Amino acid sequence: MTNIRRAYPRPLDSMQGRVDMSHGAGGRAMAQLIAELFLRHLGNDYLGQGNDGAVLPAPTLGGLPGRLVMSTDCHVVSPLFFPGGDIGSLSVHGTINDVAMMGAVPLYLAAGFILEEGFALSDLERIIVSIAQASRAAMVPIVTGDTKVVERGKGDGIFITTTGVGVLPEGLDLGGARARAGDLVLLSGSIGDHGVAIMSKRENLSFNAPIVSDSAALHGLVATMLATRADIRCLRDPTRGGLAATLNEIASQSGVGMMLQEQAIPIRPEVAAACELLGLDPLNVANEGKLVAICAEADAPGLLAVMRSHPLATEAAVIGKVLTDDHHFVQLNTAFGGRRIVDWLAGDQLPRIC
Ligand code: MG
Repeated sequence: MTNIRRAYPRPLDSMQGRVDMSHGAGGRAMAQLIAELFLRHLGNDYLGQGNDGAVLPAPTLGGLPGRLVMSTDCHVVSPLFFPGGDIGSLSVHGTINDVAMMGAVPLYLAAGFILEEGFALSDLERIIVSIAQASRAAMVPIVTGDTKVVERGKGDGIFITTTGVGVLPEGLDLGGARARAGDLVLLSGSIGDHGVAIMSKRENLSFNAPIVSDSAALHGLVATMLATRADIRCLRDPTRGGLAATLNEIASQSGVGMMLQEQAIPIRPEVAAACELLGLDPLNVANEGKLVAICAEADAPGLLAVMRSHPLATEAAVIGKVLTDDHHFVQLNTAFGGRRIVDWLAGDQLPRIC
């Protein structure tokens, strides 16, 4: 972002105004948009440096050696605003969570915005304010960013890409290839809330109990879990593709199978009912504030107790076990006493969910 602390003849009309091509042209209009919307809400010492990149202090871990973790995520969710969040807060939470799932402490975020000509500045401001709130609450600043504008009809309002950097202590190695037969599968809470909140909004469905996205930053929960020193093999957030995709990924990376207990998997009754109505399997539905932990069996009870004491994991549960299985199947003992294979989602039943 360029240095733009100067006055403009007319303030940006963030009530009635719309994005136009000049807002991406690198001239005065773009500088004004950045100053009066982005910097006004997101400003911090790093973002305010006004150069081609942010100069950041090298991370320290109290003098201990560490490594950098970097992750990036594009956000194309539709609709842009949904119960429990919007594309702005989602783009902060999504990337913080990917960094956190590596066991790293998230430090900085970069944000890239692709805006469509004609997009309402009032909606843009609402999204930027949401990013500012989510970033402040998580204490992970946006330190650099970029905006581009594409012609009307060539975008869909706004797309946001965020990149996160975090620091990982030496000796801590979490990964999907580390699950071993006998490990337990822990889930931090109810599944399907985010995907169903999006689909309900998109389909204009309303339910007696409102369904709200679980979008949340999980790095605090992860820190609490890691502090237990439990032998956690892997952490992963079951986002796109849902719990089914996440567990199949881990099973195939580790070359193991899994047996899940359907009755142990938390799901809100209203989410289960909506999934019935929409023809969705909740195991395939995206979450944005949940995590899966694969943990050595002996350490699982202690880890579960600590998770349940955290506000973002009060409904945490052990939902299954890792098995030896040459086919790397994830299987489910159903509530009705049957057994089935939990497969990856075929095709894309749930486009533009995050
Ligand atoms: Mg992830």
